Amino acid sequence: MSQYTPMIQQYLTIKEKHRDAFLFFRLGDFYEMFFEDAKRASQLLEITLTSRDGGSKDRIPMCGVPHHSAPNYIKQLVEMGYKVAICEQVEDPKATKGVVKREVIQIITPGTVMDQTLLKESENNFIAGVAHEGTAFSIVLNDLSTGELRGYLYNGDVDSILQELQALEVREVVVSSQLYDQLAEPLRIRQQVIASIQEEHTVPASFVGSMANSAHPLVTAASGRLFSYLVHTQKRSLEHIQPLAMQKNEEFMKIDSFSKRNLELTETNRLKGKKGSLLWLLDRTVTGMGSRKLKQWMEQPLYIKEHIEERLHVVEELMSEFFIREELRDALKNVYDLERLAGKVSFGSVTARDLVQLKVTLTCMPKIKEIISRLRSAFSERVAQNLDCHESLCEFLDEALHEDPPLSIKEGGLIKVGYHEALDRYRDASVNGKAWIAALEQQERQATGIKSLKIGYNRIFGYFIEVTKSNLHAIPQGRYERKQTLANAERYVTPELKEKERLILEAEEKMVSLEYELFLQLREHVKQYIQSLQQLASQVSAIDVLQGFAVISDEQHYVKPVISERGTVSIVNGRHPVVEKVLDSQEYVPNDFSLHEARSMLLITGPNMAGKSTYMRQLALTVIMMQIGCFVPADEAELPLFDQIFTRIGAADDLVGGQSTFMVEMLETNYALNKATKHSLLLLDEIGRGTSTYDGMALAQAIIEYIHHEIGAKTLFSTHYHELTVLAEMLPSLQNVFVSAVEEEGRLVFLHKVIDGQADRSFGIHVAQLAQLPAVVINRAKDILTVFEANEDRPSAQQETAAALADTQLTLFTEEQSEKKVEIEKPSEVEDMLRSMNVLDMTPLDAMNA
Ligand code: ADP
Repeated sequence: MSQYTPMIQQYLTIKEKHRDAFLFFRLGDFYEMFFEDAKRASQLLEITLTSRDGGSKDRIPMCGVPHHSAPNYIKQLVEMGYKVAICEQVEDPKATKGVVKREVIQIITPGTVMDQTLLKESENNFIAGVAHEGTAFSIVLNDLSTGELRGYLYNGDVDSILQELQALEVREVVVSSQLYDQLAEPLRIRQQVIASIQEEHTVPASFVGSMANSAHPLVTAASGRLFSYLVHTQKRSLEHIQPLAMQKNEEFMKIDSFSKRNLELTETNRLKGKKGSLLWLLDRTVTGMGSRKLKQWMEQPLYIKEHIEERLHVVEELMSEFFIREELRDALKNVYDLERLAGKVSFGSVTARDLVQLKVTLTCMPKIKEIISRLRSAFSERVAQNLDCHESLCEFLDEALHEDPPLSIKEGGLIKVGYHEALDRYRDASVNGKAWIAALEQQERQATGIKSLKIGYNRIFGYFIEVTKSNLHAIPQGRYERKQTLANAERYVTPELKEKERLILEAEEKMVSLEYELFLQLREHVKQYIQSLQQLASQVSAIDVLQGFAVISDEQHYVKPVISERGTVSIVNGRHPVVEKVLDSQEYVPNDFSLHEARSMLLITGPNMAGKSTYMRQLALTVIMMQIGCFVPADEAELPLFDQIFTRIGAADDLVGGQSTFMVEMLETNYALNKATKHSLLLLDEIGRGTSTYDGMALAQAIIEYIHHEIGAKTLFSTHYHELTVLAEMLPSLQNVFVSAVEEEGRLVFLHKVIDGQADRSFGIHVAQLAQLPAVVINRAKDILTVFEANEDRPSAQQETAAALADTQLTLFTEEQSEKKVEIEKPSEVEDMLRSMNVLDMTPLDAMNA
């Protein structure tokens, strides 16, 4: 250490405490980084790496960014998942001898950003604290920008923690060092989420108010950990953090992260974007808050009948009242992001422009309230009664704030005339002074006869009289004092002009500092409304989501679903909301659903591309739409409430995680079988496809039987193993259905219509024939099929079919092509090698190399 200069020593001392962050070390007008930080940052940010003498033998690597463009660089680093510690000079360099004192004033991390440019308007930015003990754990979630605070309590192991965190879509997770070792890596690889360590888990005094008294010790520990981390990184008051809202698991439907992805709820798998997702379709909100609220609702559909019906009722009203709805949408257009404004007030980063936005927003409230009061549903009445328009705050802001203030709060122009007497006096002095100067210009022009004479101002010389060179002969002797010479003009001052200038500048200086002071007071005043503003934000965003539901339901001709108490699914002419929207709706073929106690499982067969998975997803999306309170795509719909949706659809390869597709399939299936109840919805698409035929078929059958006997959940199971259709004879609640297709003029035409019964078994062979596969292959396939069909009506069909297959194996070539008979020899070296490989343990790259 002693080899370095005092400043570098100071740097190293501070850096030691912030090893997991890039340290932005303020040096004059720059933030500098040194040593390893400098090397990495210069690469990541593509800025020049230099070096400086720091007292040691070798020069110290260094790179830096100008302080005014720092936000942009910080943004880049945080977006890449890094943390940035901002270290400022905390004393005046002019007033100190030696090294200026420096302190880290804030640590910006992916989960704690407050900067507008880093936040997505329609998404929350969640950070989570985690605590666990034995087989129970708690997750406490906070969005620092909005102040929202939610608590969850679960049973489960470390894997379940990962699962839940994934489902909650957090940006950053705060854990103990013990949990860090187990979670950090998978979180980073699978979800690109950063984990941070915080051992302290008691709730800091300033946050005790946010905790419910009765909170479970694990929830308190998770909150304590999260709060401690926020205190450590933000180093300021966080009064906008709302009281902890415990999420009662039994009040919501659960959708695990696999299913969210499979169903493309908030983003699509192909495009990795919102477009094409259910969220994309349903988002007809007007405000950013509404858009965020919708996403939250989609992630947690309701499981309480009354709550769902309440939402459906509002949608129904707004759907039938087109003009009220349009008026409401109009009124919402002027509503800014109240939630985040409240956050900024507390964070101390609110500007006068933000407060003008707050005022404009509040100005809309009486109108919104009035519109809502014209509706009759329980929700509307409650809102109409309770919506607090904050009239006095609105008036106060209106009286105090200038309509169009500058971005900076340190340069004046913030406060309106009439708000503060002394301020008005300074302002008058300044205004009068300027009028006096304007008058002086006139006087001097007359006195000298120089028409082009003018009085100007610049920062260095202050006020001056400017006379062009050609008019210099006309200036009065003695009274003008020369100040500056330009190419074709001279600038002068007079004693009276100087005196006036002094008065004006003094007044302006006082004005600016008084305005700043008044603004800070005003900001303090607004602070006391943070909680009620948050409440208002929550009401308004819910209204926004519901009007959006009415808009989409009207446009797409959705119908109000009936909640079935008997566990019946009965849908007439149902549609897949997104496919229907993307296709021309003329082309979409609607389908019915009928599921009940005696028909709780459907085994779906049909050729590829017929529409099996669309049909399955359609039901899940319809269920979710109903349980978030939206109308559904059908002519009639009756649905029970589902407690959870599980899916295993498509090849959502988890290649990054290094697991084989089949392993993923089994993991997801296992998850579903473990957690599903009688009230769940299971969608299983082509289970067993990832392994050999018999293996796969056996697994599929065993899974179907297990669900049928042990779980009793409503299940849609698609398969290309036609052999499984015999199960319907043994399992009373299993029904075969198939997606039909026909051949027309030698072409295969998909009808996309789902019909009870099973697909024609020779369909695949038919397609193969259309594709002109060799006749010998087609004929052989037909033979094998005959054997299958002969065994169809016997329960032990599969085993016998296998035996039959083996029996006929050798006849393939003997009859027509005996000369080509292949003798079965000892396996070759390559075969042995292939056999010895364990494909399940290989990464795709290993497999390719092998
Ligand atoms: P499968 O799962 O049977 O292979 P998909 O469900 O993926 O088939 O559907 C294949 C394509 O058929 C879809 O991309 C969609 O465009 C179209 N499709 C599916 N269902 C319908 C329908 N009911 N009406 C119109 N087109 C449909």
